Amino acid sequence: MTLKKILVTGGAGYIGAHTVVELYASGYTPVIIDNFSKSDRTLLEGIEKITGKSLIFHEGDCADRKFLKEVFEKEGDLDGVMHFAAYKSVGESVEHPVMYYQNNLNSLLTLVEVMKEHKVNNLIFSSSCTVYGEPDSIPVDESAPFKKAESPYGATKQMCEQILEDAVRADKKLKVTSLRYFNPIGAHPSAMLGELPIDRPNNLVPYITQTAIGIRKKLVIFGGDYDTPDGTCIRDFIHIVDLAQAHVKAIDKLLGKNEDEHYQYFNLGTGQGVSVLQLVKEFIEVTGVKLNYEIGPRRAGDVVKTYANSAKVQTELGWSAQYAAKDALRDAWAWEKRLRGLTT
Ligand code: UDP
Repeated sequence: MTLKKILVTGGAGYIGAHTVVELYASGYTPVIIDNFSKSDRTLLEGIEKITGKSLIFHEGDCADRKFLKEVFEKEGDLDGVMHFAAYKSVGESVEHPVMYYQNNLNSLLTLVEVMKEHKVNNLIFSSSCTVYGEPDSIPVDESAPFKKAESPYGATKQMCEQILEDAVRADKKLKVTSLRYFNPIGAHPSAMLGELPIDRPNNLVPYITQTAIGIRKKLVIFGGDYDTPDGTCIRDFIHIVDLAQAHVKAIDKLLGKNEDEHYQYFNLGTGQGVSVLQLVKEFIEVTGVKLNYEIGPRRAGDVVKTYANSAKVQTELGWSAQYAAKDALRDAWAWEKRLRGLTT
């Protein structure tokens, strides 16, 4: 039996790399492409250490049609694609909107065209809970409307989902599942793989761990005057390994025989709302380290409160989160320490 081959764009990034590990564990053969614009080769080494596999890897940009076509031609028999390659920072997208639209839309459009040319019909797309904008009610389920996006990043995810829905409607062979991530955090429990921002982190947990280890002076919590119990934003923090495993469930379903609708979408969250301040306190409690933090001004583009209703993914894909936020914080800290040469 030949193993199913899955192209993983952005496979050297945080979510992509953890998913590659889970794909190998489930008997798939991932083919990674990455241009290292926001990622580092260290993660590829981490995947190799965990899996013991020598990776299939092509360096390049998936908005580069010539490069992408060469990969499809060379690999020949791809069964599906997971598209992680995208810019992902809310704050940065407010400062550089055109760069975000350019990158996130072009890479998807190019990919979908090249897939069609090569008769590859199965795609898992990295979407985000930001598609809901500021939801009217929480927990938010998949029937919630796309309200106005709070950031250009969120708008790119809305547009990409629209493009995919239209593409599926026009092409009966194409099957797409969009996975709407809430806030992935943590690291592989082996501490061999984790989040590695190439410069100043934009996301909360790497900023926490870099501050705790002494690389950053202070964590600023963006906004303490929101209409929430402690005044800070509320998110649904999901362990990266749980998130990665959901991708395997999604591709299993997509490649299996089914008569389902060809465009599907699922929330990926724990169903628990946790405030930014609660998460910071939990980090201090779980690790026992000191953390220099203060409440600062709000950050433009932030949704105030969101967490997932995850009933649909549980029913249809048989997936639910297994780890708690404290597990993710412990694993993120172990990874940060290993990365900086401190024993765990
Ligand atoms: N956040 C913060 N300080 C930081 C980074 C993030 O207070 O240095 C907050 C941010 O305002 C948001 C939450 O943490 O309320 C999660 O932000 P992140 O960028 O990790 O993910 P997002 O929800 O924007 O996708």
